[in-house]
Amino acid sequence: MLLAKAITLIESNAPHHHTLAQELLNRLLPHTGNSIRIGITGVPGVGKSTFIESLGVKLCDEGRRLAVLTIDPSSALSKGSILGDKTRMELLARHPNAFIRPSPSSGTLGGVANKTRETMLLCEAFGFDTVFIETVGVGQSEITVRSLVDFFMLLLLPGAGDELQGIKKGVVEIADALVVNKADGDFETSANRARSQYANVLQYFQPATEGWKTPVLNCSALHQTGIREIWQTVLRFISDTQANGVFEKRRQKQSLEWVYALVNDSLKNRFLQHPGVKALIPELEASVLSGELLPSHVAERLIKTFSEK
Ligand code: GDP
Repeated sequence: MLLAKAITLIESNAPHHHTLAQELLNRLLPHTGNSIRIGITGVPGVGKSTFIESLGVKLCDEGRRLAVLTIDPSSALSKGSILGDKTRMELLARHPNAFIRPSPSSGTLGGVANKTRETMLLCEAFGFDTVFIETVGVGQSEITVRSLVDFFMLLLLPGAGDELQGIKKGVVEIADALVVNKADGDFETSANRARSQYANVLQYFQPATEGWKTPVLNCSALHQTGIREIWQTVLRFISDTQANGVFEKRRQKQSLEWVYALVNDSLKNRFLQHPGVKALIPELEASVLSGELLPSHVAERLIKTFSEK
């Protein structure tokens, strides 16, 4: 498949592949941007893959073309991976309208996120009109996914009390919808309780998106209840934000953010590869650790070495 080949090119770390990939992206740029971009996060076991499969199959049956990309911070940090190890979303993976791509398995979170972003653009150029970007809720990666998508959804387990401890408050604050999953069988009562508790908590937060009241919804990904309502909420969000200009403004802001994220990464790489800096680092680090030198002084010396060429 051509798309898979193009993604492999983008994911490659070889310099000549990088040049080719950038040229490809430049040519495809006019054909990108025409999808609904949705971020989905939640702790391991909350039901992300069950939910994505359940909603994804419905959307693909209706004729939508869905790309599911993952940002797996565990694959960036270690060789293992939380998301990649199990067989996930088999039914969706076989659907002709679906395309599922796991995170690149190496690199920093910033690097993985950039490749995911470029993969998303490729998928759009290849005619995918819906993109899900999934991440495990274990830290910084949620903020990164928020910077890639139009709509960001946090899946929660029934049993709000315990959960609010585990989920960083910051993640609740950046969500456009909270979804309490597993609202079925024995969990139904606690899911309803969780829903009203979260709705209460949200009163004290600024909405993540200007002009949008962040709803709390219940669903059962397993029994496929409440899924349609969630999709309708997404569509309402898109049409509301497109009408008031917030959609376009966010996309523009995201593009600029990516420029500076890339500059940041590239400068940092060059800094760390600089022979003079490399040679100085062990000694200077040791002197900070022993309390001999001030961090600010060491930073200044490193920067000076870097600027001297
Ligand atoms: P992920 O780690 O967030 O991707 O979670 P999974 O989708 O793998 O689901 C974890 C477990 O929860 C699996 O055993 C699922 O069958 C189960 N699960 C997922 N959604 C539901 C649901 O709506 N109701 C119930 N009762 N179980 C669910």
